[in-house]
Amino acid sequence: MTKNAPQMAVIHLGQAFKNFFAGSAEYPTFKKKGRHDRFTLTNDQFAIKGRKVHIPKLGWVRMDEMVRFVGKVLGGTISRIADRWFLSVTVEIPDPPVVRRENQAVVGVDLGVSAWATLSTGEKIIGPKAYAATLKKLRQLYKRFSRQMEAAKVRAGLEPGQPIPKGMHIPWSQNMRKTQRRIARLHARIANIRANALHQLTTYLVNRFDVIAIEDLNVAGMLKNHKLARAIANRGFGEFRRQLEYKAAQRGKTVVVVSRWYPSSKTCSSCGYKVPKMPLAVREWTCPECHTHHDRDINAAINLRQVAESSVRGSSPVSA
Ligand SMILES: [Zn+2]
Repeated sequence: MTKNAPQMAVIHLGQAFKNFFAGSAEYPTFKKKGRHDRFTLTNDQFAIKGRKVHIPKLGWVRMDEMVRFVGKVLGGTISRIADRWFLSVTVEIPDPPVVRRENQAVVGVDLGVSAWATLSTGEKIIGPKAYAATLKKLRQLYKRFSRQMEAAKVRAGLEPGQPIPKGMHIPWSQNMRKTQRRIARLHARIANIRANALHQLTTYLVNRFDVIAIEDLNVAGMLKNHKLARAIANRGFGEFRRQLEYKAAQRGKTVVVVSRWYPSSKTCSSCGYKVPKMPLAVREWTCPECHTHHDRDINAAINLRQVAESSVRGSSPVSA
């Protein structure tokens, strides 16, 4: 049994690549899909050496970071997001032998927005400063764009604040296009900062613990939330789980995914009492049964750890 794990790195293709795309559409498996250029390479078409990748017709190209993998390279994809190019390599990882040790270090991890992760040990992991600053900048650009759109609507003969009638086309100004390009670039930058921070976090977890319990978050459902920070954090949850699972597989560690229906926030980790409601705004609470005072996130993380501990021993509310 093996697992395929995609690995990503930013690559610097520069002018040579732009010319290549401008002049040729005959690349074997090249597909142009609107703003997303991508093509795939089989494992005999490219080679990786340290921070460089060899691509047919282009030669050696520099990467932002080393591709992290252990295993056999199956193939690769080169794709463009905004103005950045990415190399994604698919690697075959053999399943490690299952090792059951006594006294395994078990941790529960509660994912959030202000603290990216709260561990059952009480540690809170905050995202990098650059991430918060970039998010702030993104929010400003969205505001700028909506101001520019309002002005464009007025130019097109609409009242300020009036919704665009169905079928009406509002011509975009040069400045609107410019703002939109900056928004796309910033999204790519945010994704990059987040992926790097998540690599640090997931490496830390698999190095330190043997069993890591996380919640099976309903990412698709949560994406409906319109708050920007929340929406962007949610995109990180899927990436967090993907990284954690392949790194755990490489090191023979276990990831326990707890069902999203398990009430980790509402249950007292000291006595098991379940409160009927726990609104998101409540950050601390006292158990009415045993009077233990809880930090909301640490309590949830401890509950996840306890579920994992019982799942390692026997049955519990764990999803596949
Ligand atoms: Zn209690």
